[in-house]
Amino acid sequence: MHLHVASITVDLYRDGQYSAKGSGVQQIRARVAGRHLAADRWLEVLNPYDGSEVGRVPACDPTHVDAACRAAVVALSRGDFPQHRRAQVLDAAAVLLAERGEEFARTVVLESGKPVRDARVEVHRSVDTLRSSAAAARTLAGDMVALPASARGQGRLGFALRVPIGVVAAITPFNFPLELVTHKLGPAIADGCPVVLKPSERTPISAIRLVDLLVEAGLPHDWVSVVTGTGEDVGAALVAHPVPRLVSFTGSIGVGRAIERAAVGKRVDLELVSNAPVIVEPDADLTRVAEAIRTAGFSNAGQSCVCPQRVLVHESRHADLVRALRDAVATLVTGDPLEEATHVGPLISPRETSRVAAWIGAAADEGAIVVTGGKVVGRLLHPTVIDQPPLHSDLYRKEILGPVVTVTPYADFTEAVRLANDRDFGLQVGVFTSSVATTLRAVRELDFGGVLVNEAPTWQVGQQPYGGARGSGNTREGPSYAVQEMTELRFVMLSA
Ligand code: NAD
Repeated sequence: MHLHVASITVDLYRDGQYSAKGSGVQQIRARVAGRHLAADRWLEVLNPYDGSEVGRVPACDPTHVDAACRAAVVALSRGDFPQHRRAQVLDAAAVLLAERGEEFARTVVLESGKPVRDARVEVHRSVDTLRSSAAAARTLAGDMVALPASARGQGRLGFALRVPIGVVAAITPFNFPLELVTHKLGPAIADGCPVVLKPSERTPISAIRLVDLLVEAGLPHDWVSVVTGTGEDVGAALVAHPVPRLVSFTGSIGVGRAIERAAVGKRVDLELVSNAPVIVEPDADLTRVAEAIRTAGFSNAGQSCVCPQRVLVHESRHADLVRALRDAVATLVTGDPLEEATHVGPLISPRETSRVAAWIGAAADEGAIVVTGGKVVGRLLHPTVIDQPPLHSDLYRKEILGPVVTVTPYADFTEAVRLANDRDFGLQVGVFTSSVATTLRAVRELDFGGVLVNEAPTWQVGQQPYGGARGSGNTREGPSYAVQEMTELRFVMLSA
């Protein structure tokens, strides 16, 4: 990413197109405090596939963050965006997004390098999330409190209202530039919380366009601001600003912990990393396992927090599974993410590609077997299966965030559970078995936010509670759960 300092006049976003005067490059103005920003400093957004410039977005600074936060306070205090209208806006936005699905999918491809087949899934899931958020807006209510259950409560009426927590600071990562933004904005709008959104500086365009679409669907123009810029400049200023009552963050563990320390006096919701395990029992259907891992392990080039990374297989099926994975993965097409046939595109940056390639090399130097892949051709790392990485290697211990799946044999289910649980992360885990007894043990003993039986850990729908145990986070997304996080309970007691 490069910073441009220039004085530029741009046309507004019109009819689904962004245009620029005096430049061949699209300059995409983010909405801050109700207006498209007239920036004089711009950030380049680069296409990870070929390094070309996709567009420029404003390089915001703390003064923009302050303006956005102040506008959010004014929007909240107007009190003119009632629950039924919030539901209508979310439904209307879902319709618009579905209509413009291809346009949004293309934006996601260009700025993130995600293959178009995966980008379409992301758009589809974002539409679902907006719909679920509309449903959450329609059903949001408080609880009755059984006051007469105490002698002191006799003859009184008690209930707890759900009131918006206030302004939400939402900070999102690069790997799902549309969907993760809908997971923050949908519930916040449902609740009646204005938002200051800081999208990834590497993939900010989908977020800017989504907020424009929400305004087109009827969202008050100053309800959501998008402050584009780096984490150090803009993200840190947003976290430190006194206005937001909640920081909702999805991203890496280091940044998550830094935010936790900096957000003094605020609620902090964290969706963090994982290195997702898959357990393959002796009674599993290996063809099904190989197909699930082929699809889930390499979609978005493995850049998902729940991509199967550590395949733990019973030793009796180890050799068979390695062969099945080798054959299945060999059929994946690596290439231009805009091509329909492509399964695996580039990583978000050449630097990330080098990092993952170095981890593969280091594991191989210590005896891990490269079953397939491992090669970098241009900007593309070919889908890779590694058998028996050392348990102390980065490839096994850390989150890879690349198109690499490792295989580790185990002797019995007790060992499998120990291996699955022995890292600091606990987002989702997959278990392949046909035994009810093993399933029940898995559900009891695996310390994860989600235990998926006969499925890869990537499987997800917007309405489920999604989030991590242990180091993987402290909250649950999915609109009907996130709306609880973004509200506070106000107890009311009525006495005659
Ligand atoms: P990242 O942590 O580098 O950046 C995430 C966001 O934080 C970006 O917008 C960035 O600009 C901002 N940021 C950086 N420093 C900041 C600071 N000091 N203060 C405030 N904001 C700051 O993550 P990334 O590389 O964009 O995304 C990949 C990571 O996200 C992976 O670790 C992945 O596991 C995680 N992730 C988790 C989930 C989940 O649901 N648990 C989903 C997707 C991605």
